[in-house]
Amino acid sequence: MSAALALSIVAPCYNEEAGLAAFVARMSAAAQAAVGADYELILVDDGSRDRTWSVIRGLSADHPRIVGVRLSRNHGHQLAVTAGLSRVRGRRVMVIDADLQDPPELVGPMIARLDEGYDVVFGRRRQRAGESIFKRATASLFYRTLAALTETEIPLDTGDFRLMSRRIVDRLNAMPERDRFIRGMVAWLGGTQTEFLYDRDPRLAGETHYTLRRMVRLAIDGLTGFSTAPLRLAMILAGFGLLVAGALLVYVLWGFVTHSATPGWTSLALIVVFFSTAQLACLAIFGEYLGRTYMQSKGRPLYMIDEIVAGDASEARD
Ligand code: UDP
Ligand code: MG
Repeated sequence: MSAALALSIVAPCYNEEAGLAAFVARMSAAAQAAVGADYELILVDDGSRDRTWSVIRGLSADHPRIVGVRLSRNHGHQLAVTAGLSRVRGRRVMVIDADLQDPPELVGPMIARLDEGYDVVFGRRRQRAGESIFKRATASLFYRTLAALTETEIPLDTGDFRLMSRRIVDRLNAMPERDRFIRGMVAWLGGTQTEFLYDRDPRLAGETHYTLRRMVRLAIDGLTGFSTAPLRLAMILAGFGLLVAGALLVYVLWGFVTHSATPGWTSLALIVVFFSTAQLACLAIFGEYLGRTYMQSKGRPLYMIDEIVAGDASEARD
């Protein structure tokens, strides 16, 4: 490990030809100021349709610190980051967008914070300049809904802009799940994590690739990846159905006893009440098993050990 670089930077790039050179210039200067030449900048071309890859090739020919990784097609932001993270060689790893919305100059202060003994320093957005009210409102709603429905404490208003210790990145890379919601996975890993408040800038060039459709997908990935609450809906409905059925039962039987009901209605009502409640109950049971199978299928480790102390030093450390 001692041969590891001081810093790896991973930047996913999709159709970023216009702003990439500016990003690399600012990012390299900031990294150079923070750790000298002891860093690498991994640019992952996520199957861009513009000239992003040839820009990356050109930049890597000029800068020895740049590593270009080209994905075979567009795999999406989260997988592009995943691909970059799988190739890091540094002791500290930064994930940053290539569109200059996350200021590269924060790398120095974030390293200082990480070196105080944290595993993760995640950027938390104080402001999001240049983004529509709609985007800000939906993002805010999403983060809060997610927080309400999951047991993992996923920090609010936090994207993937962050600095991590290599230990966390190795653990993240070892998580085999396919639908990756990285900010949630990092939160799930635990360890010591702290926020770093910053103002998100407007995009330098080009436009956002997170269309409404992609945002909804990401939201669904986040929600289903960390919560089986939606599956529990049947359980809630069944409970509610049971209450209604109880009340209905009294009403139906009262009609039968007082002969005020149309003949045939009693049995019909009873059948409907009984079977619909039974069906919801069965769905709820399915949901419980399915939820467990689903979580198991993610193949996540059961727990993470941060530290072990033993008086006689016979216990190995992590
Ligand atoms: N990105 C990517 N693949 C995609 C979409 C986006 O690698 O399919 C990259 C993009 O180049 C940028 C980062 O992910 O560096 C964030 O994307 P974007 O700026 O479009 O999202 P926003 O900042 O608007 O949420
Ligand atoms: Mg952006």
